[in-house]
Amino acid sequence: MQDSFICQQIGKSFTGDGIETHALTDINLTLEAGDFISIIGPSGSGKSTLLSLIGTLDRPTNGTLSYGDQSIHHLKSRELSDFRFENVGFIFQQFHLIPTLTALENVMAPLFGRKVTYDKKERALSLLEKVGLADKAGSLPSQLSGGQQQRVAVARALVHEPKWLLADEPTGNLDTETGEIIFNLLRSLNEEKGCGVLFVTHDPALAERANRKIEMRDGLIIEDRRLVRT
Ligand code: ADP
Ligand code: MG
Repeated sequence: MQDSFICQQIGKSFTGDGIETHALTDINLTLEAGDFISIIGPSGSGKSTLLSLIGTLDRPTNGTLSYGDQSIHHLKSRELSDFRFENVGFIFQQFHLIPTLTALENVMAPLFGRKVTYDKKERALSLLEKVGLADKAGSLPSQLSGGQQQRVAVARALVHEPKWLLADEPTGNLDTETGEIIFNLLRSLNEEKGCGVLFVTHDPALAERANRKIEMRDGLIIEDRRLVRT
């Protein structure tokens, strides 16, 4: 159970203009440490909401969320941000790099203001090397292609050595070939480092290449099954 996320009867509603939207209803899930999991489902089915609850960027309206034997859904903001720093890295469809910082500075950015024992620059450089961008350390995001920017984002997500990578349509803005590079990178991090990966995708073929596939519709999990990896 260590390093596993456990969702029990999780619900999430949003209220705006007097209208309540039930984004998630009765989600029961255990995400086991080191797993490689895809989430697929139509637009508006609750995929991003689920990812942000698991990543503690937002809180559930109902239910409980635990990490191992630690209950996390009611932690104070400061404790939550420490939890995130220790355990999760995020990757988004739109990369979300800081445009005024170089690739190297973007990778180091999560470490600012944090006590870290290793040399930040050395670690960031070795991650850029790992994603094949050692020669782009001094480049600004605007000087990089979409695929290169996403590789910088992957390096940034790894800089604090998280146990989990949460990726919301990480290949959604990339062509097939570049998407394949990012997907293979996530897979190798999972296989070599044992980093748990939970990724959202629109692509049915990609979803089938995970170890476990979760399918959502209208805020519900309609299918959750183990896959034989090909
Ligand atoms: P998906 O990622 O599968 O496209 P989302 O998780 O983004 O779906 O959204 C699920 C539902 O929750 C949608 O109906 C969406 O409009 C609603 N929703 C998501 N975030 C918010 C928010 N911050 N405020 C209001 N409604 C939201
Ligand atoms: Mg989404």
